[in-house]
Amino acid sequence: MKITVNKDSIKQLGHKAGNAAFDAAETAEAAAEKLRTKAEDHIQKVRLTRAIRDLEEEIDLQMCAIGQLIYATHKGDPSDSDDMQEILQYVDGLYEELEGHRQQLRILSGALLCGACGAENEEGSVYCRNCGQPLSQG
Ligand SMILES: [Zn+2]
Repeated sequence: MKITVNKDSIKQLGHKAGNAAFDAAETAEAAAEKLRTKAEDHIQKVRLTRAIRDLEEEIDLQMCAIGQLIYATHKGDPSDSDDMQEILQYVDGLYEELEGHRQQLRILSGALLCGACGAENEEGSVYCRNCGQPLSQG
């Protein structure tokens, strides 16, 4: 049996295959880009989580020092209030940094920041819970 080849249909097939390959390449690229972003997000998340843990440990240590100073005062060895003030302010700074890191982590995990007022909104929110402005997704 002889097979007649329809050149036109082959051409068309080739064209379609070419298009599909092109689409596939584009999709693969987009997927790779998504993966890259995801990987970067993941690295960033790991870094933030580590930094948060370090900050929490540092705060614990400072809290312990504050406790010791207070206890020493109770035992009749008054602590230098400048020292105490310095530690307290240092802890304030640590807490600020900690909150910043935690916010970044929440944003990486999908939280949305309002473009109008800067308030943080839960993933998938449509309007800002603080000012009511519509939130742009992504
Ligand atoms: Zn807002």
